[in-house]
Amino acid sequence: MEPYTLPFWESLRDGTFLIHACESCGETFFPPSPICPHCHSTDVAWSETEGLGTLYSFTRTHATAEPFPDELVIGVVALEDGPQLLAPIDESYDSLQIGDDACIEATEYDVDYDRGWLEMYPFFVAHTFSG
Ligand SMILES: [Zn+2]
Repeated sequence: MEPYTLPFWESLRDGTFLIHACESCGETFFPPSPICPHCHSTDVAWSETEGLGTLYSFTRTHATAEPFPDELVIGVVALEDGPQLLAPIDESYDSLQIGDDACIEATEYDVDYDRGWLEMYPFFVAHTFSG
């Protein structure tokens, strides 16, 4: 059986970020799901987003798992197209401010652990721009 999120990962690899849009209530959401979290309809479709938004919240952690750097900056990006999503942020913690413009892009990390079927696909990361 093909993983449900495969279209997302294939599009990310090709430079396009996909979210889901509900055909019943019109809401968009992420992560992808076959059921709309707003109205529970199964009438959902993939929708392209430019991945542009603003930094809603952010933090850093110093207790990371083995493949990650000692300090990992992560945050919630509120996309212009609706959903909020959690992503690593490719900027220093001290340079960030809530409300900064942000964009989500595909990125490659040099990791040496088994990513399973995701091995062929990139990760995604947020870049920010001071507002
Ligand atoms: Zn819905």
